[in-house]
Amino acid sequence: MGIRAIRGFKDILPPETRSWQELEELARACFETFGFSEIRTPILEKTEVFNRGIGEHTDIVEKEMYTFTDRNGDSLTLRPEATAGIIRAYIENKLYNRSSVQKLYTIGPMFRHERPQKGRLRQFHQINAELLGSDDPLSDAEVIWVAWEILQEIGLKGGLRLEVNSLGCPKCRPGHRKDLSVFLENNAQDLCEDCKRRMKTNPLRVFDCKKEECRRALLLAPVIKHYWCPECSEHLGRVLDYLEFLEIPFVINPHLVRGLDYYQRTTFEIKATGLGAQDTVAAGGRYDGLVELLGGPKIPGVGMAIGVERALLLMESEVEEEATDCYFAVLDRDAMEYVLKWMKELRQNGLICETSYGKKSLKAQLRAADRVRARFSVIVGESELDEEEAILRDMETHEQWQVPFDEVAQELLKKTLEEEEVEAKKAVQEEERE
Ligand SMILES: [Zn+2]
Ligand SMILES: [Zn+2]
Repeated sequence: MGIRAIRGFKDILPPETRSWQELEELARACFETFGFSEIRTPILEKTEVFNRGIGEHTDIVEKEMYTFTDRNGDSLTLRPEATAGIIRAYIENKLYNRSSVQKLYTIGPMFRHERPQKGRLRQFHQINAELLGSDDPLSDAEVIWVAWEILQEIGLKGGLRLEVNSLGCPKCRPGHRKDLSVFLENNAQDLCEDCKRRMKTNPLRVFDCKKEECRRALLLAPVIKHYWCPECSEHLGRVLDYLEFLEIPFVINPHLVRGLDYYQRTTFEIKATGLGAQDTVAAGGRYDGLVELLGGPKIPGVGMAIGVERALLLMESEVEEEATDCYFAVLDRDAMEYVLKWMKELRQNGLICETSYGKKSLKAQLRAADRVRARFSVIVGESELDEEEAILRDMETHEQWQVPFDEVAQELLKKTLEEEEVEAKKAVQEEERE
């Protein structure tokens, strides 16, 4: 056995990469219409970016980060999520001076050393958006909207379910926190070991526990909505109004929480309902304390992340490799002088061209042309070279005809253009019928 990829790291091969490109292109186009610009931050950051930006008492930081010491003795970490690095870049480059509101997105890999039995990848991919500089409920709604729009656009197998909650603010949370702590202490015997520990470090995080025993024990736990201050109620109310105007259906899930202090007010998840068990495809929320926590000014923000691997499972169409326009079957390598000129002109005109490498029989080359689903083949052997006339072959009808060398490129351009026009007409007619 040769060298294999690292466990939890996966090669993404063609033609699957086509689906990735399609999803990424669609997300980019969507972000542009919402006024988001792309930011690309390094995959590697100083470990403190995540210790501070995600929180030391989280599963991610405690157990899941790829952290190592580099040759200079610095502690570095492969990003387990995108937000902390984006905020670090936002502060370092003083992006808040360029405009009061920054709308940023990024697409790329994240790394978490999760337990392999969960079947999760350790390199996974996310589409991220951050809207910085506004606490207007409209910005919360817009971030939810862009996530919803991208997921709608991919053509869904099954449905989506948007769950929303508000986590309150520093004014109304302490009351909830206090009552929750008392409740947890009184019910500690029903909680798992992890939750008993969380209870002391960060009580809200018990709601993240997936264990049945804990979920049952928490059914009667005090929920934040009974503690919302008037401002928090109003903020959520306006976010929900906007969602209604946009006709984005939602449910309020009072148990939806994030156990980190800088998460405030709006929090949301979008779940896929068509994949058997409900699965979260996108999640996000408001994080008004984060910029300050990472050493920047007091600037509010809201963001979201879409899981690319999960979104791809929802995508309706399997994307195929594109078919080749022209395959050049060359039987005399002396003909390459002409063939390369034709290919150059055709490729510059956007046609997909292929030829064979090395010396192969005509039969083998026509088989290769079929394999790449070539629309036309051009055959050039010794006699064609002598007469300076190539054979053009329609790979569908198997019709063949001769074309002088200096007309080959033009003929192929004309033919493929005609094909495209016929296809376009067909598409229009079909649309009219529908
Ligand atoms: Zn509040
Ligand atoms: Zn638990």
